[in-house]
Amino acid sequence: STFDIVELANDVTDFYGASHTTHTLAFAGNGPIMIDADSEKIKQLLNNLLSNAIKYSPDGGTVSIEVQNQDGFAEIKIRDEGMGIPQEAMSKLFDKFYRVDNSETRKIGGTGLGLSICKEIVKHHNGTIDVESTVGVGSTFTIRFPVAVISTILTYETE
Ligand code: ATP
Ligand code: MG
Repeated sequence: STFDIVELANDVTDFYGASHTTHTLAFAGNGPIMIDADSEKIKQLLNNLLSNAIKYSPDGGTVSIEVQNQDGFAEIKIRDEGMGIPQEAMSKLFDKFYRVDNSETRKIGGTGLGLSICKEIVKHHNGTIDVESTVGVGSTFTIRFPVAVISTILTYETE
């Protein structure tokens, strides 16, 4: 069904933030930006990315969520101030069970499934997911979905 991704992302941020008070969740975005998608799957996608942003960044940090209409695509950015992702991990990051293995990540639990699920959800909705990251500075995950096409039906009355 068709829904406003700005409103949904704002709701997910508020709900997630209420139970994760170690970080500040900062939301920005003006709607409506309509997309045609399975809203439960989109919630799961955002939850997985918020979970990572919080898990892999220090307490007290800010996680920002931005939604905007970028050339006909609903673009959602989730940015953290965390440990970052090494360049050599990038090509495997969305693979099932893949986890970066270093002294920092070993202390943090996980199954390595979150991002592979994200990739499947994005693919299913004709979207894209990209990541930019600098080790020791932070990471930004960007998701894009085509904005829903609104078909207007004009009815002319004739005598
Ligand atoms: P889970 O299945 O519980 O989500 P996970 O978080 O380890 O486990 P993914 O979400 O698939 O698995 O992420 C894969 C790996 O990518 C992580 O183990 C971590 O090494 C790295 N990673 C993901 N997101 C971030 C991030 N925001 N900052 C730094 N590293 C990240
Ligand atoms: Mg995860």
